[in-house]
Amino acid sequence: MKFLPIFLKLEDKNCLVVGGGDVAARKISSLISTNARILIVARELNPEIEALVQSGQLVILATEYEKSQLDSCVLVIAATNDAELNKRVSTDAQQRNIPVNVVDNPELCSFIMPSVVNRDPVQIAISTGGASPVLARLLRSRLETMIPSAYGKLASMMKSVRKEVKEKIPNQTQRRRFWESILQGPVAELLFSGHEDKALSILKQKISNPNENSDRQGEVYLVGGGPGDPDLLTFRALRLMQQTDVVLYDRLVAPAIVALARKDADRIFVGKKSDQHSMTQDEINDLMIKLAREGKRVLRLKGGDPFIFGRGGEEIDKLAEVGISFQVVPGITAATGCASYAGIPLTHRNYAQSCVFITGHLKEGKLDLNWQSLIQPGQTIAVYMGVGAAKVLCESLIEHGMNIDTPVAIIQQGTTTEQRTFTGSLKTLPDIIDQEDIKPPSMMIIGDVVNLREKLAWFDESGKV
Ligand code: SAH
Repeated sequence: MKFLPIFLKLEDKNCLVVGGGDVAARKISSLISTNARILIVARELNPEIEALVQSGQLVILATEYEKSQLDSCVLVIAATNDAELNKRVSTDAQQRNIPVNVVDNPELCSFIMPSVVNRDPVQIAISTGGASPVLARLLRSRLETMIPSAYGKLASMMKSVRKEVKEKIPNQTQRRRFWESILQGPVAELLFSGHEDKALSILKQKISNPNENSDRQGEVYLVGGGPGDPDLLTFRALRLMQQTDVVLYDRLVAPAIVALARKDADRIFVGKKSDQHSMTQDEINDLMIKLAREGKRVLRLKGGDPFIFGRGGEEIDKLAEVGISFQVVPGITAATGCASYAGIPLTHRNYAQSCVFITGHLKEGKLDLNWQSLIQPGQTIAVYMGVGAAKVLCESLIEHGMNIDTPVAIIQQGTTTEQRTFTGSLKTLPDIIDQEDIKPPSMMIIGDVVNLREKLAWFDESGKV
């Protein structure tokens, strides 16, 4: 290891920046948050730096560089476009044993600046030792997506009670266990889901009574897994999937998504088809309660969004009744996922000012829908679970006055590599479904916006259509 990673305390210390352009501005923006006293030597200042000077956050020392300016400085950055000058600054600084960084010139640097994931007070610094700054930035963006933005808050909350915990739990090992249980348990989860006060009160409770094992009650995460493409999961969904003890998933959830759950988590299939239930809703509810009472973190993974034709409401209703804590993570619902991947904007200033989501689920062979509201012009209809009812639906819409030539699209297994999209009209759709042997899960989109697909289709379905 050529470089020692350290975090420098620069508060009220003089730091010299030579250069006043965009590159200098970037470095200054990192320095400024440390409350260092920043001195600048530059002939010209870019507007960003100029504004900082105006607001008194920077001091202009001179327009020309001289060795003596290094006196009293603890750190130097050379960021000019004059290679000779940068070199001089580096040599002078190194002679005085002052750490120096020359932008984009590792040879002249005595220290390098890492890519930083900032969750103040938590800082994650990444360096490739100058080998590939782009790689460092890529790693950074990966970490950015994996580490919840509330980690900073979590760290600050831990800091606020550190002393108290040390007094209460003098044994180091026990204390470490205590912190682990806090950071991986309900306190952290409550904080991440925005319940700061509740998190703090549980934390205080645990500090005053560290031996009481009140953690044993688990919790339930009701998570929307999106329509199929694993890339469409939210960061939160992925994070919870990676810390869960048991996953309960439906048939609709793509295997590639279930596979993202923590390796040693139990996976329980509670599959549902529109025509058969392998587990009744009550059985699923009871199972979730039982597992949570055993102290498990239960992830109830649903296709699309749990609150859109997903019975999510019913599932947490029971949990709320018996006092099991839960959180709900929205997912991309099939209507928006399929629409995007089919190149059909659900609303459009010229064609649709509203969009309704309906289910084509048949009750005793009939559709119970508000037809008058559905046939309104300038409206898109997104139909879930509509394959079996497509004929009845199209005929009823026509019967109630909708134009027989209204464009319709049907998208099977939207957002996945198996996606197939067909377009027609209210008149032709039932035949298309027969001819193309369309199967669930499929979304129908009805309305003039469907015509936009011709121009806006972008997702490659070649080889499947
Ligand atoms: N909660 C889910 C919907 C569950 S109802 C959501 O928000 O998406 C099940 C219906 O959703 C299916 O019958 C189908 O109409 C639709 N659906 C779900 N995933 C789909 C996909 N990948 N492609 C097309 N339709 C899908």
